[in-house]
Amino acid sequence: MTGTAAPSLPSRMRAAVWRGPGRPLTVEELPTPRVEEPGDVVIRVRAAMFGAALVRAVTVGHPRLSPPAVLGTLVVGDIVETGAAVQHLKPGQRVTLDPHPPCGHCDNCRDGLQALCSTKISISPGAHAEYVRIRPPVATHARPVPPGVSAGEALLTEIVACVLDATHTAGIGPGQDVLVIGCGPVGLIQVQLARLRGAQRVFCSVNHPGRRHLVHQAGGIPVAAEDLSAEHMAVLTAGRGPHVVVEAVGSAATYASAFEVVRDGGTVVGFGGCPSGTTIPLDLNAVHYRRIRFVGSYHYAPGVFEEAARLLETGQIDLKSLLTHRIPLDRIADAVATARRPDCLVPVVEP
Ligand SMILES: [Zn+2]
Repeated sequence: MTGTAAPSLPSRMRAAVWRGPGRPLTVEELPTPRVEEPGDVVIRVRAAMFGAALVRAVTVGHPRLSPPAVLGTLVVGDIVETGAAVQHLKPGQRVTLDPHPPCGHCDNCRDGLQALCSTKISISPGAHAEYVRIRPPVATHARPVPPGVSAGEALLTEIVACVLDATHTAGIGPGQDVLVIGCGPVGLIQVQLARLRGAQRVFCSVNHPGRRHLVHQAGGIPVAAEDLSAEHMAVLTAGRGPHVVVEAVGSAATYASAFEVVRDGGTVVGFGGCPSGTTIPLDLNAVHYRRIRFVGSYHYAPGVFEEAARLLETGQIDLKSLLTHRIPLDRIADAVATARRPDCLVPVVEP
């Protein structure tokens, strides 16, 4: 069923295998995935994400993952084999993958809520391997990476898309004051995108003094995490508070701060994911009489991945400073420790 293939793919490859919560990832040999169906594409992985979600999965597990498994969904790599029906891609091309393309036929997709498409899509075996096989609709949406964009930068397209969707959802626009709570990769990308959309002042809470310069570099104004009070934020915003507050930490305390500091008629965006069952006391009198809008943000609408890719490709956002650590596959056992270092923003696995 093979359309076109590189002359020689090894029969076996190396991959990082997860054998259960708390156990170290091990490098093992697995069969190299090959094209099986006409729409399949096999990719030589050049960069794969090891973000906070994976640190959680490796250490405490994940409801949708059962060991043994090769983890990771974010991939940039070079095409080495394509199925007979694949017309738009060819071996040798470097591509970045949208891991959440909507199926178009589930209930949520039919309701226009493609960001919450309920069809589970996976790559085989997982991103932390030398080779992966992808199928439609992931293969259909694979996007060539132009020269001048590094594999690591292209790997961040999905994260930029999620943040961009939050920016759209919040209605961030010219002249606004915005507060981003959280100075990880998401927070720092949010600062850049808010500035790009014309926000006047973009504050960003900083809990590592070492990240203040990154906030400045992104065009933002650092605010110490302990200064996230209504009084302090009012002083910084001519007495009004921010128009938009984006919570990008995922904790009850920072969600509560977001409601406290937002201005009358403002918007709180719930970007940070909290553990199931997390609750906060919310003054519903204030929500009503101050007309506070609260909106959750998760994944992105159709077209936003492509919009994010164009921002990268045209140099409108800078992601180089976020790519702080590289993890060769042979050092995968150190990945959790690396990802937890205070100076680590984005750790990239390079199989
Ligand atoms: Zn769907």
